Amino acid sequence: MTSAGRFAPSPSGELHVGNLRTAILAWLFARSTGRRFLLRVEDLDRARAGAEAVQLRDLAAIGVTWDGDVVRQTDRGNLYAKAIARLEQAGLTYECFCTRREIQEAPSAPHAPQGAYPGICRNLDRAELEFKRSTRPAAIRLRVDVTEYTVQDVFRGEYTGAVDDFVLRRNDGVTAYNLAVVVDDAEQGIDQVVRGDDLLPSTPRQAYLASLLNIPIPEYAHVPLVVNHAGARLAKRDGAVTLADLAQEGVPVEGVRDRLLASLRLPAGNLDHALGAFDPAGLPREPWVWPGS
Ligand SMILES: [Zn+2]
Repeated sequence: MTSAGRFAPSPSGELHVGNLRTAILAWLFARSTGRRFLLRVEDLDRARAGAEAVQLRDLAAIGVTWDGDVVRQTDRGNLYAKAIARLEQAGLTYECFCTRREIQEAPSAPHAPQGAYPGICRNLDRAELEFKRSTRPAAIRLRVDVTEYTVQDVFRGEYTGAVDDFVLRRNDGVTAYNLAVVVDDAEQGIDQVVRGDDLLPSTPRQAYLASLLNIPIPEYAHVPLVVNHAGARLAKRDGAVTLADLAQEGVPVEGVRDRLLASLRLPAGNLDHALGAFDPAGLPREPWVWPGS
């Protein structure tokens, strides 16, 4: 399969300038390395009616082009179920009946990373298992034999992060993000993952899971986020931050695009023009403060 990069938004609302900047970067990384560029809608959770269409329109308006059809995670339940079944057959999963509260109140295991699942359901005997099954639906957790894992990142270099017995399928039946993203990237031939660096802490879990599934680990580039004046991740409440908001304030889409390109030290103009000047080594390494409209 040809190699590919991707942008994978959650259709929970309109994309803001931070999302659009990450999309432009993912596009530049993929196109500058001769990769295909795929769009995947991560709609397992938090999907809002109509949001996908607006997001696709805004991406196209800013100049981000993609190859092939848009893929939606809600169409891919059988792929996720197959991957979980493979892990199950290898003895790498277990059922977990814990509530959030039970997890919070449990003593943490010795040497476990902070916030790690404390292993309450890891070794239930048959009677306990049958009793718990009669009380509550189970989530499926990965049975992990490491506490951390190391990945390579274009921006951050070697990055080591915690890996615990994380959830693969929630007890409401919804596939967990960490499983879906690994299965999707592999199945779509994605070998380059460019996304916001808020996702870096969960990357060791995903790479470890990929290794268990004999899936090649993609190249990662976690890009600095766009922040507000207080240094917090940009959000809707930070004023005019979507293409529609900015258009209302008199900033046309080309103006937004050029501002985003300038923040990446790239020349104004269409994305093909920026592509000619793109060099990952020249990208800023710090979060970018959105100056507002
Ligand atoms: Zn449990």
